[in-house]
Amino acid sequence: MNIHEYQAKEILSAFGIPVPRGRVAMTSDQVERAAKEMGGHCVVKAQIYAGGRGKAGGVKVVHHPEQAQDLGKDLFGKKIVTPQTGPEGLRVRRILVEEAVEIAKEFYLSITLDRGSSQYMLIASAEGGMDIEEVASKSPEKIITFAIDPFTGLRPYQARRVALALGLTGSVCEDCVNLILNLYRAFLEKDCSLIEINPLVVSRAGWLMAMDAKITFDDNAVYRHREYPDMVDYSQLDPLEIQASKYDLAYIKLGGSIGCLVNGAGLAMATLDVLKEFGGEPANFLDVGGGATREKVAEAFKIILQDADVKGIFVNIFGGIMRCDIIAQGIIEAAEEVHCTLPIVVRMDGSQVDEGKRLLKESGLNVECGDNLGDAAARIVKMLG
Ligand code: GDP
Ligand code: MN
Repeated sequence: MNIHEYQAKEILSAFGIPVPRGRVAMTSDQVERAAKEMGGHCVVKAQIYAGGRGKAGGVKVVHHPEQAQDLGKDLFGKKIVTPQTGPEGLRVRRILVEEAVEIAKEFYLSITLDRGSSQYMLIASAEGGMDIEEVASKSPEKIITFAIDPFTGLRPYQARRVALALGLTGSVCEDCVNLILNLYRAFLEKDCSLIEINPLVVSRAGWLMAMDAKITFDDNAVYRHREYPDMVDYSQLDPLEIQASKYDLAYIKLGGSIGCLVNGAGLAMATLDVLKEFGGEPANFLDVGGGATREKVAEAFKIILQDADVKGIFVNIFGGIMRCDIIAQGIIEAAEEVHCTLPIVVRMDGSQVDEGKRLLKESGLNVECGDNLGDAAARIVKMLG
């Protein structure tokens, strides 16, 4: 689960990490008022669920409240496209107005989970800022990584080693040690899978502060934090993804034309691979889960059909926990309810498979059954020809 920069900064601030003074605005008049409060010279930052805003015109320094207001008018409702948003872009509904800070140096600092070693990694660089991806690919030696032992946690001497490696000395170095320790505390207490500060800056006046912040919460821990569901900005999510999450379906929109309805994430990935191998382009990844019920299958069907890019539907179900005839009933009911005329290919196997196939054949839908995964994939690709 993602949150906005201003929310991430509120969390960091609560853990003793310095952030610039700021206010979030929902209208351009609020942008003006907030800019006045900051003394006119301030930074106007579009709040979207993606980074790379600086290079896309989503972060600007202004000198007068009116200038901030004009920028607000321009940004609100506009879609910002960055390498992290995809070609569609994300629409600006909230703007953060912050006091401007004179930056002397930009650093990079983050904590994330390394699934390979099952450890949290502290990642830092003295070459922070908007070109961090380039630094990582062209001069990886400039990125410091440190695995945190889950049993001992992060010790002050380890944080100091990182601060020294960033080239910091004296009081700023000590500030950085505390900041790193607080960051780790926030990471654990808030059940994050990522906290990233880029840039972490030393100001001209010599203070260390988090200029940008990104936090991703671990979805599996959201239930432990009552306040998290209210923090979601639904304007930043695909409406179909929101609908899917209500029914506990894992749905991700992809670029192609074949809607996929599959039970189990592993089977879903295999399905996408096989479709591609037969020259098909999947329109989505939709996993109804191992114990998919008839209702869930029906909801999944409706979600797929709301995507105008879908020209055909590929169902790949293994009836292990759920019987194939029940799944078939779900497909038939949903297809009739939404008046689906698109070609459907079903590959089914498992419990009650013959009964499931019979129901589908007699349903009157534009449906074919494949004998196996390869045969079914070839059929749907051919039907869309
Ligand atoms: P991102 O591009 O989405 O990661 O957005 P950031 O919040 O990191 O902003 C992009 C860049 O704007 C930063 O790397 C800074 O160089 C610059 N920036 C952000 N806030 C300030 C500020 O208060 N003062 C100045 N001078 N620059 C800022
Ligand atoms: Mn940034």
